[in-house]
Amino acid sequence: MERLTLPPGGAAAVDEYLEYRRIVGEDDGGKLFTPEEYEEYKRKVLPMRLQNRLYVSWRSPTGIDCKLVGPETLCFCTHRYKQHKTDFEMMPQQRPISLPCRVTGCQCKAYLYVPLNGTQPIRCRCEHFADQHGAAPGFTCSACSKCSGFHSCFTCACGQPAYTHETVVETKEERLAQGKPVGQDVPYAAMGGLTGFSSLAEGYMRLDDSGIGAPSVGFLDSPVTAMDHPFLKAFQASSGSLQEKPTDEGTSSQVSSLRRPEEDDMTFFERRYQERIKMEKAAKQKGKARLSSTTKPS
Ligand SMILES: [Zn+2]
Ligand SMILES: [Zn+2]
Ligand SMILES: [Zn+2]
Ligand SMILES: [Zn+2]
Ligand SMILES: [Zn+2]
Repeated sequence: MERLTLPPGGAAAVDEYLEYRRIVGEDDGGKLFTPEEYEEYKRKVLPMRLQNRLYVSWRSPTGIDCKLVGPETLCFCTHRYKQHKTDFEMMPQQRPISLPCRVTGCQCKAYLYVPLNGTQPIRCRCEHFADQHGAAPGFTCSACSKCSGFHSCFTCACGQPAYTHETVVETKEERLAQGKPVGQDVPYAAMGGLTGFSSLAEGYMRLDDSGIGAPSVGFLDSPVTAMDHPFLKAFQASSGSLQEKPTDEGTSSQVSSLRRPEEDDMTFFERRYQERIKMEKAAKQKGKARLSSTTKPS
């Protein structure tokens, strides 16, 4: 069986590491903190992070946040949002708030989102790609001399050209004042504009630009009534019946475990064994197909 196995407690260790990464981000400079350093870091950084969170989005002239910037979102300088300065002991007073890149030698003075065209960088009006331009203010092209600074007419999914959009950095209060979602307070580093599961979708798919965040758990858990959409009612019914089935049988629950009346013990076990082998083979093949599709060069 090709299966990922973890030593006892391994899954918990992975969870702990992921939690550490979400909290520390790049702040350990690539060398894991000792448990003492980690505690000290949390004591120092978490209160100010919860207090002084900045929200970063890429806003169209119509006011829609077409992109909510998250820790991994690339900047014009080709580095990720989490590699920029995102924590502030004191909230900066000047506007706009500039979030400079922390990568050694990078000239980027303020995080700047640039959309991609599918997986490709977008082109400047000088016809060279975004990443062929310098990250220092002025954004001049390194591939030609006719460029007067990066400027792209690429059309965003919202219908407006990229150059009419703005990378906006704002505080919780500033967002609330505009009725923009702020989500829950989180201890994680470089969360930027992420406020919920739907945040990674493009603005026009999210359609929550005027909302103030995800509905409360109480609202989501409220019983479905006769007034609700038929889809909701159907979903409620099917998820209810699912819960009545035993859930501890693993893969074998999908094998027809009822003995047919004409079968003797040996035929019954043989049939279940064959069914199981077939399922394991199918699962293995699925795994392989997934592997080969991810290793193909894009
Ligand atoms: Zn940079
Ligand atoms: Zn940058
Ligand atoms: Zn250019
Ligand atoms: Zn150029
Ligand atoms: Zn847009």
